[in-house]
Amino acid sequence: MSDRTLNLDDKLYQYVLDHSIREHPAQKALRDATRSHPYAGMQISPEQGQFMGLLIKLMGARRTIEVGVFTGYSALAVALALPDDGKLLACDISNEYTQIGQPFWEQAQVRHKIDLQLRPALETLDARLATGEAGQYDFAFIDADKTSYDGYYERCLQLLRRGGLIAIDNTLWSGKVATHDTSADTVALQALNIKLHQDDRVDLSLLPIGDGLTLARKR
Ligand code: CA
Repeated sequence: MSDRTLNLDDKLYQYVLDHSIREHPAQKALRDATRSHPYAGMQISPEQGQFMGLLIKLMGARRTIEVGVFTGYSALAVALALPDDGKLLACDISNEYTQIGQPFWEQAQVRHKIDLQLRPALETLDARLATGEAGQYDFAFIDADKTSYDGYYERCLQLLRRGGLIAIDNTLWSGKVATHDTSADTVALQALNIKLHQDDRVDLSLLPIGDGLTLARKR
């Protein structure tokens, strides 16, 4: 019996995958297509994608946001979990990376759910706020440049309805948040973690899944 999260060695991690992952063939194919990419480590793990899909279904989410698409695996996981008329506002600046994922969105027949916006996410989110979409969204996933996380969080919090959920990726940052590392990314994540811990606008959980996934439910 332990009061701590297990450290997963390779064997136990493989067991988790073998006994839980239920990917659409397009998800597996997209992971394979991303594996050789120089930034392949930016892709979320399959168990995290499946967990986020479960959250979407539990919440009955229909309108969702993603900040940081990369090659589109997390967008695919969320879109597959949405109802057919559900929407994902997908924010990224890279046409090159997001193009990798689009054939797999089509293969999974979820392309119509994904509204891909290629410009700085802060601009996209501010534009949605300006057109009166505050309080209209159910779920947001933040997984982009770490130094802008606080800006994304504040905007997503406004766009979410009460009871909506923000999932923030990489909040453990390979363990560097618990060190004296002074890189801009680490410092930004440390500051955000401190802020979230004290933020009484949300209910909070920091999960040691993947590289750390913080869940913040808007009160
Ligand atoms: Ca990430």
